[in-house]
Amino acid sequence: AQHTGGHYPMQEGEVFNTQYQVLHKLGCGTFATVWLCQDMRRKKQVAVKVLKSREGFAESAQDEVAFLRCVSCMKKKDLAGENIICLLDDFRMIGENGFHACLVFEVLGPSIRCLMGNYTAQGLPLPFVKKSLQQVLAGLHFLHKCCRIIHADIKPENILLCGCSKRLQRLLMATLHCDQGTEGRLKGAGGDLGNQLEESDLMSIEVKIADLGSACWTYKPFSKEIQTQPYRALEVLLGLDYGTPADIWSTACLAFEMATGECLFDPQPGKYFSRDDDHVARIIELLGRIPPQIVFSWNKSTKFFSRPGALLRLSRLFPRSLPGILADRHGWTPQDAAAFSAFLLPALHYAPERRASAAQSLRHVIMGIGPLPHILLDNWHRFDKALALHFTVKSQVT
Ligand code: ADP
Ligand code: MG
Repeated sequence: AQHTGGHYPMQEGEVFNTQYQVLHKLGCGTFATVWLCQDMRRKKQVAVKVLKSREGFAESAQDEVAFLRCVSCMKKKDLAGENIICLLDDFRMIGENGFHACLVFEVLGPSIRCLMGNYTAQGLPLPFVKKSLQQVLAGLHFLHKCCRIIHADIKPENILLCGCSKRLQRLLMATLHCDQGTEGRLKGAGGDLGNQLEESDLMSIEVKIADLGSACWTYKPFSKEIQTQPYRALEVLLGLDYGTPADIWSTACLAFEMATGECLFDPQPGKYFSRDDDHVARIIELLGRIPPQIVFSWNKSTKFFSRPGALLRLSRLFPRSLPGILADRHGWTPQDAAAFSAFLLPALHYAPERRASAAQSLRHVIMGIGPLPHILLDNWHRFDKALALHFTVKSQVT
């Protein structure tokens, strides 16, 4: 039926697949609605993602299941990947619009987007930003290198919190048990989570990468347009082949937004130019002219450029610098602004092959926090172990 927009028409008190009793909605995205359910067999709560039933969705659900199974399999093998959401089960349901693929996950907390609702004015505390970035990057390193998967939709909505301290778990559960939209502020049963969170709570939060619904294999040809506009990498915008570096670009956008409360790029269409035109212009304003050898190696480039450096429809650009924005607009100290820019800029390199990898960015974030003793950074085996250690030693995140 039209009115549900392809979403499954859930009845109150419904039991999915004779096993999952629906408690309430946890969130919804472009492709699915996610429900908190009581798993009557395992006697615990789970999150059931019910995909829309439109044509094409069943197929992409099969892909999502395949990516998640690959992640589970590699997790067992490499004893890593704890920063990626865990699939527990999957099944199909029939609704009035046809079949709905359903994925069962561990229950996680609200998304970074929800958390940021409470901090929009100034961004999240920097130590928390660094800590979550480490986890996102460790997750991406695992996805890229062990699973050979490009996530292709890194953004605040798809990074979910999971609480560690008992106090925090209680706070998060309180918010889980009141129906909230994905975009809304965190108004929990006990009030506004943002007001109850203390700095120490934030430091104990872990994050996981969720939503592999747009992912693709690194080694398979793909043509679909990926990523959500503000987080879309330059090569994707311009129609060039993309790979794992596209996720790193998005992560840089995510990092800036978490730290400042503002989008790094927030392109808008105008009377004479498209949203894509504006996006390319905003990128050039911040990161400088795109070298001609790159511009004209891209097959969509004539859509944007009349000649190297000259945009077709936008002639007046206002150059800005990243440290300048952080210091002037957001009041950061020059030292903090320089350190954060030194992490962001290599992750926003125009040439994907020269962009920092997840591992390199991770190293940068950690070194920015303070070098770890006794590690030979070029020795990857030992570095991975030290990283695992780092994640459990919370006091080091300052
Ligand atoms: P879509 O593909 O439609 O974007 P997502 O997998 O991103 O679907 O889920 C949509 C939203 O549902 C997320 O942004 C998040 O708020 C919520 N959500 C998803 N998975 C979980 C989970 N395991 N635990 C708690 N909330 C979740
Ligand atoms: Mg999503």
